Amino acid sequence: MSICLMLHGIGPAPERVEPDERPYWISESTLAFVISEMRTQNVRLTLDDGNDSDARIVLPKLVEAGLTAVFFIPSDRIGTPGYVTEHDILELHQSGMEIASHGSAHLNWLKAGDAEIANDVMRSIERLTGIIKAPVRSVAIPYGYCDRRVLAVLRQIGIGRVYSSFRGPYADNAWLVRRDCITADMGSQEIRAIITRKPDAAEAALTFLRIWRHTGNAALWAA
Ligand SMILES: [Zn+2]
Repeated sequence: MSICLMLHGIGPAPERVEPDERPYWISESTLAFVISEMRTQNVRLTLDDGNDSDARIVLPKLVEAGLTAVFFIPSDRIGTPGYVTEHDILELHQSGMEIASHGSAHLNWLKAGDAEIANDVMRSIERLTGIIKAPVRSVAIPYGYCDRRVLAVLRQIGIGRVYSSFRGPYADNAWLVRRDCITADMGSQEIRAIITRKPDAAEAALTFLRIWRHTGNAALWAA
């Protein structure tokens, strides 16, 4: 089992960021703490939304530490103010980072039709593949909003791995990965507690029920 962390923007949130999104912007010192923990713990790092801090702040720190992360980029935002450019994405890829899809328009897929979801994902994969000239296999679900229908669409169009916003440790070969979101209010003790958490039987049973309710197929999480 592994823990997968989810980060968003790093540094002070720029003015364009809506109030409800501000708690997801963490300080550079919190990022430094997460990276230092990654040196000793079995923890995987992901970054959502394609903020330009991915390239400006996160990439140099990961390269310096000899570590990697997965970057989920909503492709319609590429090159718009405050977000990564095509050049940034290529640099992330060439530095050994995984480039992955976060859809094109950062839609709520629960409100989208099957064809709209498939189109949103495939369009983003085409754009990203065109930039890095390498396959793009993983998707992170915008806002974490999903149900069995959304997951069935992602399965059907052949997505290799789906990153959710359900919390907790995940099996290393799972198709659907759980992630723990790091937010601005968390101190180092709380972050360390998340990273070092061992699956406990009661929590595992509750998570199983929650996943079953949302997806109707808890086996997705195991393989
Ligand atoms: Zn997002």
